[in-house]
Amino acid sequence: MAHPRQTPLPPGSTIGVFGSGQLGRMLAIEARRMGYRIHTFSPERNSPTGQIADFEYAAAYDDTAAVRSFIRGVDALTFEFENVPSLVAETAEDEGVPVRPSGPILHAAQNRQREKSLLSQAGLPVTPHRFVTDTSELKEAVNEIGFPAILKTAAFGYDGKGQTRIERDTRLDSAWNSLGRQPCVLEAFVNFERELSIVAARGQNGDFAAYPLVENRHVNHILDVTIAPADEEPAVTQEAERLACQLCDFLELTGVLCIEFFCLPDTSADKDPTASESQSTGRLLINEIAPRPHNSGHWTIEGAVTSQFEQQLRTVSGLAPGSTDQLRPAVMLNLLGDLWQNGEPDWQALLAFSNVKLHLYGKHEPRPGRKMGHLTVTAATTAEALEMGLQARAALQRD
Ligand code: AMP
Repeated sequence: MAHPRQTPLPPGSTIGVFGSGQLGRMLAIEARRMGYRIHTFSPERNSPTGQIADFEYAAAYDDTAAVRSFIRGVDALTFEFENVPSLVAETAEDEGVPVRPSGPILHAAQNRQREKSLLSQAGLPVTPHRFVTDTSELKEAVNEIGFPAILKTAAFGYDGKGQTRIERDTRLDSAWNSLGRQPCVLEAFVNFERELSIVAARGQNGDFAAYPLVENRHVNHILDVTIAPADEEPAVTQEAERLACQLCDFLELTGVLCIEFFCLPDTSADKDPTASESQSTGRLLINEIAPRPHNSGHWTIEGAVTSQFEQQLRTVSGLAPGSTDQLRPAVMLNLLGDLWQNGEPDWQALLAFSNVKLHLYGKHEPRPGRKMGHLTVTAATTAEALEMGLQARAALQRD
C-alpha cells in the first residue's frame, strides 16, 4: 500500500475531492481559508461541496474521460465517501497524481467483508462475525453466532441501511430476501454500554496524531449527538488511541481515519492494580472504520486546535498533521431533515443562543433522516454543552 513520497503541496495547490457532500464542503471551507484550491467531482450540480469549491465537475463516477480530465487538473486527490469506483484510483496512478488515502485502503473500506478481514489481519478486535453468500451458509452462521444477530450487506451500507436483526423466530429466507440475496456479514449483536469513536491522522512521513476519544449517541441507527471527550477511564482512552495508531501504521495511511467502537461493560470486579496501562481492557470492539473525516469529528472545527478537515487537507497535501489538542469540552448535535417537517426551522430562536455554532450544508431537499447540518456547543463541561445544545436544537422545532 506504500506510495512514493512526494514533496508537500503548498497553499495555492489544487486538491481534488471525489464526492460532493457535507464532508467535502467542510474540507473546501478549510482549504479556502488556507489558500488551497478545491475541485469536486460528482454527478450532482450545485452540491454542498460545489457551492464552496473553486470548480465543480458534474459527471458520472464511471465516466472514464471525465474522471481523467478531472484528475489532470489537480495536484492530489482525496474522497469524501468510500464508494468511489476503483477506476478513480487506477486513473490517478496512471496520471501520477497521488491519492490519499491510497486506493487499496479505499477498496477495503468499500466492503464490510474486506474491512473485517483487514482488521483481523491487523490483529484488531472486531465483533464476532461470519461471511455468508447463501441461505444455507446463513443457517450455519446463525448456529455458530447465536441470537440475536445482525445481518448486514457486505457492500455499500451506512446509517443502519442494508441491515436486519435476526431473532430466534426470524425466518432466515425472508431476512436473506429482504437484503436482496447478496453477500452479507452476520454479526453477533453486541450488548454494548456505549458507542465511542476516535478520529486520527497519519502524515506521509508516519507522524501520528489522534483526537480525544468521543461518545456517540445514535437514534434510529443515525448519529444524533457526539460528546467530546467521552467520559471514559484512561485505560480505555489509551487503548483506543493505541488501536488507532496500530491500524494507521498497518495501513500505511496518509490521511484521516475514524474508528467506531462498541464499548463493552466493565466486568472486571477487581482490577489488578499492577496491570500495565498498555494491556488490553478487552472492552473495545471495532464496529466500523472510515478512511476520511467523520460525523463524530465535526466538533473539532470549534473544539480543537486543528479541525479534522484541516487535518485531511494537511495530510492529503503531504504535510504533517496539526495539533489535535482539545480547546474546550464540546458537543455536536446533528440536524436532520425531519426538523423541516412543519416548515423552515426557527433559526432566529436558535441563534438567540449566543454560544451555539450553526453549520448548514446547503442541501436543497430536507428529507427525513437526511443530514442537513449540525450544531456545535463548547462549554466548561460536556454536561453543560449537552444541555445547551439540546435546548437550542429543541428551539428550532416548529409545532
Ligand atoms: P453500522 O451501519 O454498522 O455502523 O450500524 C449502525 C448502528 O447500528 C451502530 O452504530 C449501532 O448502534 C447499531 N449496530 C450495528 N451493528 C451492531 C451490532 N453488531 N450489535 C449491536 N448494535 C449494532
